[in-house]
Amino acid sequence: MNVADTERMCSLLRDSGMEAAEAVEQADLILINGCSVRDKAVHKAVSTLGTYQDFVTAGRKPLLGLGGCVGQMEKGTIFRRAPYLDFVFGPDAIDQIPEIVSRVQQGERHSVYADFDRRDDYSTETRALPGQAQAFVNIMKGCDKYCTYCIVPFTRGREKSRTISEVLDDLAKLVGQGVREVTLLGQNVNSFGKGNPNKLGLEPRALVGPIGRVGPEEGEETFPMLLRAMDADPRLAELKRIRFTSSHPLDFSDQLLECYAPPSEGGVARLAPHLHLPVQSGSDRVLSKMGRKHKIESYIAQMDRLKALNPDVGLGTDLIVGFPTETEEEFEETLKLLDRVQYDTVFAFAYSPRPGTRAAKLPDDVPDEVKNRRLNQLLAHQKLISERRYAERVGRRYEVLVEGSAKNDLMLREGESRGLRVWTGRTGCNRVVNFRAGAPRSLTGRFLEVEITDSSPIALTGNLLSDVSEGSSA
Ligand code: SAM
Ligand code: SF4
Repeated sequence: MNVADTERMCSLLRDSGMEAAEAVEQADLILINGCSVRDKAVHKAVSTLGTYQDFVTAGRKPLLGLGGCVGQMEKGTIFRRAPYLDFVFGPDAIDQIPEIVSRVQQGERHSVYADFDRRDDYSTETRALPGQAQAFVNIMKGCDKYCTYCIVPFTRGREKSRTISEVLDDLAKLVGQGVREVTLLGQNVNSFGKGNPNKLGLEPRALVGPIGRVGPEEGEETFPMLLRAMDADPRLAELKRIRFTSSHPLDFSDQLLECYAPPSEGGVARLAPHLHLPVQSGSDRVLSKMGRKHKIESYIAQMDRLKALNPDVGLGTDLIVGFPTETEEEFEETLKLLDRVQYDTVFAFAYSPRPGTRAAKLPDDVPDEVKNRRLNQLLAHQKLISERRYAERVGRRYEVLVEGSAKNDLMLREGESRGLRVWTGRTGCNRVVNFRAGAPRSLTGRFLEVEITDSSPIALTGNLLSDVSEGSSA
């Protein structure tokens, strides 16, 4: 979400006449878009700010702004610690960024733009650069779930969704510009549509999840409705992949699961076979203290149903270790969950108390060294699973959307490098694939067929099968 917000700020500033600097040392304006979900991320944002202070002593004084959830959380209090900072802004002020910068350029100092947008509806337009094949599309903002550890409802405000018709028009424009893969963004996309009357009269089915009726009220728009409307819209015929992130297991509805079925059985044809469904812990007691309100048994049942619909589906999750009162046995339940579900990707974090949340009132009683040991143990455990999951893919063929040149050229064997580059991209199931190709032009944005020849715990390696002698991007 922060990447999408940053792209939006860049695009708005470009429209207002600014250009990206070649190096941060040459910039006239530096914005830090900080995440406040974990303590560490806040420290990183603030200490990065500190490094830019040195430019002042070097005789330069770029304008400095701190934004995102960190700006929303810190507001004016940050000026005590960082008096050299010029302004602070929250996620709801992003669209005003050119005007804010102009005021600061005219001499405004220590200003705070952190009011929530109180309007009932949420409307926006995604911005994509020419030639961009992938785009993040915000379909909703805020979160009403209030998990006890999480600061997001306090920094991003109440949940509000765009209307399906606005999202479809936005997507049609993006596809017209060459976008072929979209990631629909929201903290919990399964709540998408809450409060928006189903004016288009789309498939008015009530959503049902593990606890029964979930999601928006009957008569309102829903996320599965949006996916199906995207699949049916002729303006989106050239859109090849739909992804989304994130969804909450509590209201991961049966109707959303059905979207993963093969198209001949009623599935959404372009929905990528990939699901990131954060579970947070393998222990029902810890989940209950986290305010997650879902149970491990129903979560496993959802994952099993998904795998039955598509055995090659790529699975991911988020986990927190060292939540207050988590015992060693409860941590081991999380390891057992990894064995049971067999994820491809896991994002794991040591718990850090966030100000204002309910969990912050509990004693943070798992010592840091235990949290860190559990985190490392969990990552090592998952590495073996990912290694095996990736190795199982050797010999298969995948369609890969090329994201660009790989960061390192390790794949280029000696003597073979002339005219060849290593490219990186992703399969529909979200697995990273690196492959070698000698191409007359950039392959970024193209969908190419690759045969997998090797694997590691984080990526697949393959040989290009598509002809790349010519062809347009995307
Ligand atoms: N909305 C998504 C969901 O419900 O799963 C995730 C949102 S949160 C921005 C991303 C991840 O950060 C969470 O899934 C959780 O694992 C982690 N996280 C949130 N608060 C945390 C905290 N206080 N300490 C450690 N990790 C945290
Ligand atoms: Fe945070 Fe829970 Fe909302 Fe996700 S669902 S953003 S973890 S409060």
